[in-house]
Amino acid sequence: MASTAPVSPLRLPSSFNFATDVVEHWANKDPSHVALYWTDQSLSSTKKLTYSHFARQSQRIAALFASLGIKQGETAILISPRILQWWEIGTACLHAGVVMCPCTMLLVDKDIEYRLQVSHATTFIGDSTSVAKCLKIRSKCPNLRTVIQLDGNAPDGVIDFRTALSKIPSDAAFPVPSCLGPNSPGMIFFTSGTTGPPKMVLHTQTSYPLAHALTGTHWLDLSPGKIYWNLSEQGWGKAAWAWFSTWNCGGTLFVHDDRLSFNPRRTLEVLNKFPITTLCAPPTVYRQLVLDENRQFFTTPQGKPQALVHCCGAGEPLNESVVCTWKEMTDGIEIFDAYGQTETVVVCANQKVNKVKPGSMGKPIPGVPLVIIDTEGNVTKDAEEGDIAISISDDLEFFGFFQGYIDKATGKLDNKISTLPNGKRFFLTGDRATRDEDGYFWFVGRADDVINSAGYRIGPFEVESTLKLHPSVVESAVVGSPDSTRDEVVKAFVVLTSAATPSSATASEKLVAELQNFCKKNAAPYKYPRKIEFVDAAFLPKTISGKIKRAELKALESRRFDEGRAK
Ligand code: ATP
Ligand code: MG
Repeated sequence: MASTAPVSPLRLPSSFNFATDVVEHWANKDPSHVALYWTDQSLSSTKKLTYSHFARQSQRIAALFASLGIKQGETAILISPRILQWWEIGTACLHAGVVMCPCTMLLVDKDIEYRLQVSHATTFIGDSTSVAKCLKIRSKCPNLRTVIQLDGNAPDGVIDFRTALSKIPSDAAFPVPSCLGPNSPGMIFFTSGTTGPPKMVLHTQTSYPLAHALTGTHWLDLSPGKIYWNLSEQGWGKAAWAWFSTWNCGGTLFVHDDRLSFNPRRTLEVLNKFPITTLCAPPTVYRQLVLDENRQFFTTPQGKPQALVHCCGAGEPLNESVVCTWKEMTDGIEIFDAYGQTETVVVCANQKVNKVKPGSMGKPIPGVPLVIIDTEGNVTKDAEEGDIAISISDDLEFFGFFQGYIDKATGKLDNKISTLPNGKRFFLTGDRATRDEDGYFWFVGRADDVINSAGYRIGPFEVESTLKLHPSVVESAVVGSPDSTRDEVVKAFVVLTSAATPSSATASEKLVAELQNFCKKNAAPYKYPRKIEFVDAAFLPKTISGKIKRAELKALESRRFDEGRAK
């Protein structure tokens, strides 16, 4: 496997540096090999930058860091839009062993203060907007020594990146620090914050930068010549998934410096205008793309993708009906759903070598000891629900997962490895699934989201997928709602298409009954939503990356239940 990756991601090498072993590798093979294909917001200006460019800039920026006193092992927070410097600086950080911590542009001053404090970062690098936020709270962050601004005019006390870099000779060389090993700290990411405050995840020099060769090979099917576009913002682990997957496999990363909120029409225009071969978008995006108005645009000369051959999704469960509609629209392109976390590389996926099973998250990636277990720690039987876990053993070779969560208060690492009653050790993902007779995993829900109703366990995803089959439904969020006789009942918050929005209370009741009957017919009847509430799209609480925060809706239902009892 991984015939295109310069270093094998299946055995931890004795030494590894992403800048030299991957970026320089491709640069040496072909100096004209394009690593990054960039376009601005309006799609009018484009740039193609080679692996050689990034290899060179990495040396220079690493030398700049040294001249500014930024040392190996220190943390640098990086916040910028999708500008080229993000990847140049990222490569230089890995080159020099500076621990890079990318964060989202949407953070406000207080969030930046929190992240600077808990990560003990000594350096903040950002565009002018982010630097302005940082300066407001700089005095409250005693570890922060250096602030670097990437664009505009840097204010007093802030280093102007371009001016400072221009003083470093273009042939500057920076040797990789000899103490930098494969398990040295590499990067920090914050989780999406779907279930609570985002957790701080520490990755090593290899657990993301090298192990994502698995992601690129088995799931994304990348190789030289492929052009890969991933829609997520730079502050999330997913941006690093894309970066490391593509470059390990010698592909070209496509970047649209989109600064506006998501617009399905723009996504289709980008696919039409550029020779993108491979797309990854979260399920929420695919759910929009398959709506009728976009399907129609898709059939026009301006709406048809130019070179698309492979589509992927991850981050949330992907409904079977969306996969099927997308396949119809694209004359046969399936969506390869995959599963992973900020804490891991891709660990389970629909893979090119197997047939796609719509609605399933595929099979464990070769070399990844991913299992479904019961509470004792034993692997479950086919079709039996259990916890998704990575099995940990002394001879474990898979290294594509984090070192631990960094505790905010103490700065210590918690690796979250649990020993279960049968004596075996696991990293428990917190997610539940079943496995079918062909070895495919089927997501049931986050452990906390699974609904207990009159002795039945009901996964919210299955109910949401059934509702999505109905033409009136754009999307829904299904949670357990407290009930005095059944413990919980299934409650669906449903967003309707504008055409289906009922104009009166009677029409609304009629549609509720119709959807309930529809669910009874299309899935096991005990799973139907006994309660349905129609809501606007904006009502559904979502993370910045677009994931539904079911825990908040569940809490809302509990509050309503308590209030109802108090009356
Ligand atoms: P937090 O940990 O802060 O609550 P989060 O778990 O959403 O947020 P991420 O690391 O971005 O943060 O997301 C990983 C989670 O996303 C997984 O644990 C799982 O619940 C969900 N997920 C990822 N891929 C899939 C998939 N293909 N199908 C279903 N769920 C998925
Ligand atoms: Mg999580």
